Amino acid sequence: MKSEIIAVGSEMLTPFRQDTNSLYVTEKLNSIGVAVAFKTIVGDRQKDLVSAIRTALGRVDILVLMGGLGPTEDDLTREAVAEALSLTLRRDATQVAALHARAATWRIAMPQNNLKQADVLEGATLLPNPNGSAPGQWLDTTFGGYRKLIALVPGPPHECRPLFDAECLPRIRAVAPPRAIAVRTLKAAMIPESQADKLLAPVYSAYSDIETTLLAHAGDLQITLICAKPDAEAARQRVDELAEGLEEILEDWLYSSEGDSLEQIVLYYLGLRQATLAVAESCTGGLVAQRITSVPGASRAFLGGAVVYSDALKTSLAGVPAALIAKHGAVSAEVAKALAEGIRARTGASVGLGITGIAGPTGATESKPVGLVHIAVCDPQGCDVLERTFRGDRQRIREWAAQQALDMVRRRLM
Ligand code: ATP
Ligand code: MG
Repeated sequence: MKSEIIAVGSEMLTPFRQDTNSLYVTEKLNSIGVAVAFKTIVGDRQKDLVSAIRTALGRVDILVLMGGLGPTEDDLTREAVAEALSLTLRRDATQVAALHARAATWRIAMPQNNLKQADVLEGATLLPNPNGSAPGQWLDTTFGGYRKLIALVPGPPHECRPLFDAECLPRIRAVAPPRAIAVRTLKAAMIPESQADKLLAPVYSAYSDIETTLLAHAGDLQITLICAKPDAEAARQRVDELAEGLEEILEDWLYSSEGDSLEQIVLYYLGLRQATLAVAESCTGGLVAQRITSVPGASRAFLGGAVVYSDALKTSLAGVPAALIAKHGAVSAEVAKALAEGIRARTGASVGLGITGIAGPTGATESKPVGLVHIAVCDPQGCDVLERTFRGDRQRIREWAAQQALDMVRRRLM
């Protein structure tokens, strides 16, 4: 069964607000085997809403409308559904009483407008909303001769989500054919973007029953495989089979087959090797430390580090000889290595990481372009040192550098 989510609200058509409810609702629908085929965002204009509702009912079986159930002039979802389906709206006496009771507990007079929230669509079931005044509504109806399920849920996330879980999901599950969904998330680091899809597409396109999505961000590739089948075991087997094929291609770019983050994997390997890590970061300004410390339990293997932005601090905190900086420049392989060794020596960590680079937009020289980064990882056996030139703006370069650094630590420990 196909579904569509319509988020109602002009604020989500501005540059300032995002529709986030639909992410939540999509996950829940997927979990019972219902695919989301369309998401639509509509402003608070009845004409546009009616048009969006009619379009949706022409192409999906299940429609979830979120928002526009409140008391104000611009809350028009009920009215729009009534118009789109030629249904009447009836003012529900019990709801009116409930609204009066609610206003009384707040010790406020009830504006007439509020009574809108007691309007019920012909044939609809009211869905209790314990977290707000506007109840949801559920319609099991026909449109163009086909059965359609329509849910109206309030917009505020703390009302929308519990109400959807408690009232809509069980009703949809009762109608949707039973399907189990299997999901696998593979993660790979620093695979060249041009190569990823070229290598992977021939493999995953042979699995037309699996929806494969690739999401790449700053050297991190997330591959999600979703398979829906009547039989849970069959779906799981299919997904595992494709995952195995992709894992083979990804080789050691692959760092997780279960959706873990790169920092989680680095900590996992540190634990496995009974090693500890300390970092000396210049151009990344603590991004690596931030990522690692976002993982609960990081303290078992991560000692800490220093943000050594100035040359003086590279020397005083990470022990980089001033003469070395003078000779090679702060952004050099030699200084990256000295940072890694220095922070290792000063903290007693078994693994030291040093990062130095030019995040831009200024600071480039004839021989050292914006995006140039030197990274070193040292342990008692020796050092890996890498020079990379990343493209993009300041933030992107910093993110790429942090990702590359974490990946180097992972590879050193693998
Ligand atoms: P209310 O009684 O609060 O008016 P409502 O059902 O009319 O409820 P809206 O007026 O559409 O809901 O939205 C109320 C609040 O919820 C706003 O702050 C809005 O930004 C937020 N909101 C609405 N829809 C979404 C959405 N899809 N994702 C995230 N936030 C949303
Ligand atoms: Mg509102």
